[in-house]
Amino acid sequence: MLKQQLIDSLDFANKNQEVQGEIALSSMPRLWDVLADSNDCVESSREKISYVLRGFHDKNGRPMMEIEVEGSCQLRCQRCLEAIIYPLKMTSQLHLVDRCDWDEFSCEKEDADSIPANNQLDVIALLEDEILLNLPFAPMHVAGTCRSVMEGYLVEKEDQVKENPFAVLSGMKKR
Ligand SMILES: [Zn+2]
Repeated sequence: MLKQQLIDSLDFANKNQEVQGEIALSSMPRLWDVLADSNDCVESSREKISYVLRGFHDKNGRPMMEIEVEGSCQLRCQRCLEAIIYPLKMTSQLHLVDRCDWDEFSCEKEDADSIPANNQLDVIALLEDEILLNLPFAPMHVAGTCRSVMEGYLVEKEDQVKENPFAVLSGMKKR
């Protein structure tokens, strides 16, 4: 498991810093519930996403952080419960708000997403938040392409064929 990576978010923005790297989805425990192979961490640890964090100031001089994530994950189809490969590709820009102003600020409506500035910002937790926010609420295969639905249909047909002789037999035994 990857070590916790902490950054000072305001300092990060003020110095226009940038970090990038790769991280295994298995090191984000809050994602386990939504990933199809969550009970197989060894398997899912092969699934890595790449990320870039950039600190900067926007045109109004506000400290900002941009988060870029790219990769793919396996979600569970809400119709057939089979895995779906879901491409992860997103960019978020977060406004860093001073903690002292946060309570007052968070009551106001803002166009950009905002997070409280944190001198010990957990990079992995932040990436996890952003991924969770961007995942579909109820992922599904394209209609009619669910595998188990099609397999279920085939099994049903085979069972019907197999059941017929038994039905005849059991009918004979009763006599
Ligand atoms: Zn499906």
